[in-house]
Amino acid sequence: MNDSAFPSPPVSQLKGVGPKTRERLARLGIHDVRDLLFHLPLRYQDRSRVWPLGSLRPGDQATIEVEVVRAELRPGRRRSLRVEVADDSGSLWLRLFHFSAAQQAALAPGKRLRCFGEARQGPGGLEMVHPEYRAADEPAPVADDSLTPIYPTTEGLHQLTWMHLSAQALEWLETNPESLREWLPAELLGESGLPSLADAVRFLHRPPLEASLEALERGAHPAQRRLAFEELLAHQLSLRKARQLKQRQQAPVLQGDELLTRLFAALPFRPTAAQRRVIDEIARDIARPRPMLRLVQGDVGSGKTLVALAVGLIAIDAGYQVALMAPTELLARQHLATISAWLEPLGVPVDWLAGRHKGRRRDEKLDALAGGAVRFAIGTHALFQDDVRFERLGLVIVDEQHRFGVHQRLALREKGRHEDACAHQLIMTATPIPRTLAMTAYADLDVSVIDELPPGRKPVTTVAIGDDRRAEVVARVEAAIAAGRQAYWVCTLIEESEALQCQTAEETVTRLREELPARRIGLVHGRMKGAEKETVMRAFQNGELDLLVATTVIEVGVDVPNASLMIIENPERLGLAQLHQLRGRVGRGEADSYCVLLYQRPLGQQARERLNTLRETNDGFVIAEKDLALRGAGELLGTRQTGEVSFRIADLARDAGLLPRAQETADRLLRDYPGHVEPLIRRWIAHPDDYVSV
Ligand code: ADP
Ligand code: MG
Repeated sequence: MNDSAFPSPPVSQLKGVGPKTRERLARLGIHDVRDLLFHLPLRYQDRSRVWPLGSLRPGDQATIEVEVVRAELRPGRRRSLRVEVADDSGSLWLRLFHFSAAQQAALAPGKRLRCFGEARQGPGGLEMVHPEYRAADEPAPVADDSLTPIYPTTEGLHQLTWMHLSAQALEWLETNPESLREWLPAELLGESGLPSLADAVRFLHRPPLEASLEALERGAHPAQRRLAFEELLAHQLSLRKARQLKQRQQAPVLQGDELLTRLFAALPFRPTAAQRRVIDEIARDIARPRPMLRLVQGDVGSGKTLVALAVGLIAIDAGYQVALMAPTELLARQHLATISAWLEPLGVPVDWLAGRHKGRRRDEKLDALAGGAVRFAIGTHALFQDDVRFERLGLVIVDEQHRFGVHQRLALREKGRHEDACAHQLIMTATPIPRTLAMTAYADLDVSVIDELPPGRKPVTTVAIGDDRRAEVVARVEAAIAAGRQAYWVCTLIEESEALQCQTAEETVTRLREELPARRIGLVHGRMKGAEKETVMRAFQNGELDLLVATTVIEVGVDVPNASLMIIENPERLGLAQLHQLRGRVGRGEADSYCVLLYQRPLGQQARERLNTLRETNDGFVIAEKDLALRGAGELLGTRQTGEVSFRIADLARDAGLLPRAQETADRLLRDYPGHVEPLIRRWIAHPDDYVSV
């Protein structure tokens, strides 16, 4: 860890660390002794208590004190040693597959042993496979006067090695207390009621036997909370710094209402109050010479596209270009269709750019962007490739933000940099960000919420049905079609393998065509060419198809108001937010809408809870909070891969309660103890500069 004021010796100076071990530690990001101090146990075992054999149940991890009754060498392909051991209360088998002659001698009848292992049900009663063991009168290899820590590890590093390493690191801490310098001023530490950093670290490496295993397991021990708190604090500080930095940058002043007025006059509907409020909030931001970074949250169907369009027109009025980025080609095409229909009458040139555009076609498009002939540009990630240039980009809009990584966003923002000014940026998402998450991952963003759906929307009725009742569900689809409605049938797969997903979808379509021979059934999946996909989508949109079988490619954006029924196969495999997004494809028209979750039996406890949440509420925010609680923050944002929000110790679902204090403490440190800010950030955040610095 970086705490350069107090250098910490490299791990190679510790006893027992040769080049191999050093390399393995490096793989875990551990380079010096201080890194070791922050490499904390995953869990703990109480090995001090000796369990009578008679009390053991399969699955128990236990220390036992026993005498060897007999040892049998079992020859065969997998040679093994079976050792029967007993105490006053019962007996048990130890099983070893790898053993030396010396070990065999140590396990001779009459020897007294102390073992630790997991009891399992074997063919001849309880057994322990490869337990740790030693002669009962031999001292413990490491003192067992604390709970035994189990460290997260990598291949080739055993728990015993971790014990030795952490013991040396703790010793070093005793003689170099300043190495874990306390950056929380005494007054703030006192108010928090949490232990000092050094005490917390010492405690977590060697919790006393009387410490609550249960609290440690839940991550609720004050020592754990102390570390989580400091990490959240460092995170808050870095976000506030990033924000301060951003406030110093210049941005174009975007003002003008001529086009906007004309758009509103031509709309066949009235914008909702929420849409108008959010447009105003954005308009105020972009009229200032500081780069806006605003997140617009609006549930599926709340009308985010109109908001994007409206503020885009302000930028265009002011003489700038707008770039709207969508996560999939399907969605980009849909935006193109919607937006050009609105903008062409206003005389605003619109075009789009996707991966499919190659050669001359692409060059022409690039010229139109660079020369300024195109004012409203729509695209996929193809828009932020290196050779894409804009004449004067004033506003970048990113739709369905959670699909993009932070670096992609950064790249597009860079394109908006000219003459030291930086484009404004608007991020739109239908995945509501739970408050707790918004306070951390997005603490440097301003947030607008479209908290109202256009009038006439009806909540979708959601039911969960086991796949043994599939025939009923097919009958329901038939009935909906007979009533003049359209339906979606969504196929999912647990693996992100697109090939498999498409295969499943193809099988499903074949089966449904047999079951519903009179109906027109189409298929879209991720492996189809853009034009093919578009043809099918258009046919569905025009009512030329009754049923659309699809993979989760239709998750975002697709808008077909006459579709009032959605079947989601194996919903138990998807996250709540994703299911909610999918379900948002129906309930857009006049008819009552239904979503059938066709799950596979048996359903686990967690899956049941998730599906129940969907049945009970249509409120994206409630669903997002629940999702966060059930799945954890990284997964919710799809950031586990991009590393956008990754904490070493803190867990947003578990430690959300610490956030308000972390925010308050961050403010006080910035105000009263500015010298403590940098060291705290550096201690916890590896590369603060490229951290959420969108
Ligand atoms: P999302 O927020 O999910 O992106 P869209 O922008 O796709 O939602 O809008 C969903 C549908 O609602 C579109 O057909 C759009 O034309 C329509 N819509 C948007 N705003 C309004 C409004 N104020 N009144 C009625 N319909 C609206
Ligand atoms: Mg949308």
